[in-house]
Amino acid sequence: MIDIETAKQLVKKNTKPLLKETILPIEKSGGYSLCKNIYAPINMPPFRQSAMDGYALNLQDDNIYNIIGEVKAGDAHQPVLKKGEAVRIFTGAPVPDTANAVIMQEKVTITDKELVIQNSLSENHNIRAIGEQVKKGDLALEKNTKLTPAGIGYLASLGITHVSVYKKPAIGIVTTGNELIDAGEELNYGKIYESNSKMLQNALYNLKFYDITFYKVADNYKETLLELEKASKNNDLVLISGGISVGDYDFAGKALYELHVKEHFYKVMQKPGKPLFFGTKNNTLFFALPGNPAASLTCFYIYVYIALQKMMDRDKLELTKVTAKSVNGFRKFGDRPQFLKAIYKNGNVEILEGQSSAMLQTFALANAFVFLPENISNVNRNDTVETILLPNY
Ligand code: AMP
Ligand code: MG
Repeated sequence: MIDIETAKQLVKKNTKPLLKETILPIEKSGGYSLCKNIYAPINMPPFRQSAMDGYALNLQDDNIYNIIGEVKAGDAHQPVLKKGEAVRIFTGAPVPDTANAVIMQEKVTITDKELVIQNSLSENHNIRAIGEQVKKGDLALEKNTKLTPAGIGYLASLGITHVSVYKKPAIGIVTTGNELIDAGEELNYGKIYESNSKMLQNALYNLKFYDITFYKVADNYKETLLELEKASKNNDLVLISGGISVGDYDFAGKALYELHVKEHFYKVMQKPGKPLFFGTKNNTLFFALPGNPAASLTCFYIYVYIALQKMMDRDKLELTKVTAKSVNGFRKFGDRPQFLKAIYKNGNVEILEGQSSAMLQTFALANAFVFLPENISNVNRNDTVETILLPNY
């Protein structure tokens, strides 16, 4: 059995960035990172643009201007302004070449066909210059930039339709257990509704991993071996739920061994989630997560999370940790370090009742774990405790 830090280090050390490229339409590229620099194919803005609703002027010393026409957004015509002439103009409209400033409509007085300004203007006032945001051929977004809604909007404004990004891992979720049935089926004696696959799928969706395939096996060695072999061929990451403990019908460990998956660790000194396995075969990662739902999800957030971030070549590999003041007391039994479901808010944290690894009701309310190391068995009210913020925080 190894300790938590060693286990995390082994995950970091044995997970390689995926670095597979894929081309996506920009509207589907949110959350992906660019695998190439993007250079601007056009100047942005592509023409001298009015930043205001108002009047474009050919500046002169006098404050009275003659209005000779109008340019709306989208217009292509080029009225020619002599010194002392103005055109009505609107935000986003092209400023005629012969105009050298735009004045806001709130700052002028109009009399008949004449326009009077109060203060003199400097050249290029309220005119967005060609290429002011980015010039044609210049770096628009750098390689490794993670695409956000703003990033996608920016690329769209440059007329870009597709981007080359790092692929996200293909992930297999293998559920094991004779007792598991799907929702909608009759709940006969001895059976339970399968929940881990839905839970893990959603944890992955929240982190924007969508390429997921499901595999289901009964507690049967041959079936386990066959499905695991399939899962290992078609995925970059395989998450096995259950069947990794020491029971007579836990076959995941034996099947992983038979498939020559290299074990990096099995069993971690922690609660919940002691029977956790991590291994690799070629470039595919395997986590066998405990079947108990709360233990399964805890191991996901502490270990699988690291692997996912490392596969995406990100710098921050672990969930955010903060220190917080405990609003209640807690007594820990046993000597294993514990991840306790908790609610964090404004620097305070409440350790919840019902920490069993088989129960999800408490976890459903939690937005954090309080981490109690081996040497701390009692938390008193107002103690400072290490708190790990979950992605749903
Ligand atoms: P195991 O790790 O296979 O010994 O399972 C431990 C506990 O978790 C047992 O009570 C199982 O019934 C339960 N369990 C295992 N897999 C799932 C699952 N996919 N959904 C809900 N409960 C599960
Ligand atoms: Mg089982």
